[in-house]
Amino acid sequence: MLIVMRSDATESDIDKVIKVIETLGFRGHAMPGETRTAIGVTGNKGAIDPAHFENLPGVADAIRVTQPYKLISRDLRPEKSVIKIGNASIGGGELAMIAGPCALESREQVYEVARVVSESGARFFRGGAFKPRTSPYAFQGLGVEGLKILAEVRDEFGLNIITEAMDEAGVDAVEKYGDCIQIGARNMQNFSLLKYVGQANKPVLLKRGMSATLDEFLLAAEYVMAEGNYNVILCERGIRTFATHARNTLDLSVVPAVRRLSHLPVIVDPSHASGHAYMVGPLARAGVAVGADGLIIEVHPRPEEALCDGAQALTREQYLDLYEESKRIHEVVSESVSLAAEIV
Ligand code: PEP
Ligand code: MN
Repeated sequence: MLIVMRSDATESDIDKVIKVIETLGFRGHAMPGETRTAIGVTGNKGAIDPAHFENLPGVADAIRVTQPYKLISRDLRPEKSVIKIGNASIGGGELAMIAGPCALESREQVYEVARVVSESGARFFRGGAFKPRTSPYAFQGLGVEGLKILAEVRDEFGLNIITEAMDEAGVDAVEKYGDCIQIGARNMQNFSLLKYVGQANKPVLLKRGMSATLDEFLLAAEYVMAEGNYNVILCERGIRTFATHARNTLDLSVVPAVRRLSHLPVIVDPSHASGHAYMVGPLARAGVAVGADGLIIEVHPRPEEALCDGAQALTREQYLDLYEESKRIHEVVSESVSLAAEIV
């Protein structure tokens, strides 16, 4: 059920609708939009009778939802969501650049990359303190010590910190030291973790599972939002296919597919999608061209020495070139997209 409020509905009209939803034993999620607020209902197993709402003050319409997702949907919020992370945002007019090393390795390495990212004008810094490694013998990350370095980086460079949590203790720690909690591809369907970050008070960067369909990806975001955390950014990072020339296959078509169904911002990760530094620039440009709201890029001062994902890490110069080219493409795309919207 989706309750669409009239544009002149007051706060108390909205509160009244939410009270009625709660009295029925469900949860109401108010999503303010540019022209009107819509309220999504979750927790109901079957259809709800619209008659409960149609005579309440300020209600324009009560609509049954037939799709499996409610809160991620453009039916609830027709305009795109802009998600605030620290003192910057993703999904607005500007291309969001999130850059940094795959893994935080040492204070020196983190500072070296942070300086490059800050000088480039990017607003977001990435870097894993808890690393999901295929082998238990591979470098597992610096843990909380790494998060403390990230918190220093934020103070020193004014960068907003995005870093992965793999379990509940990790979420608590990232909530304390970082600005945005990354849920990695391997955890996209870890439903208890999704519910847990749904109760966190920091935004969530949700990466697509490597074999996830669009529906599964969107429903993972729905899990987070159903708990009350509406600040979700989706990230396409490549999926497993039969191809062996790249680490994964970047599914660019998911960007317009997400856009059609959801108000959430979507970014592209060409680093994990390709696994090869020489492919990262071209795929980043392609991601921006299909309408991504941002990019997440791995950078290392000396890729050959990286403790994790060195083959896909960009050097300072490669990263700076990629960022400049991507910004230029983003400008053209935003202009032509708004022009197209005017023509339609
Ligand atoms: C990462 O971004 O550090 C990472 C591990 O990515 P993914 O979860 O997409 O593999
Ligand atoms: Mn990596």
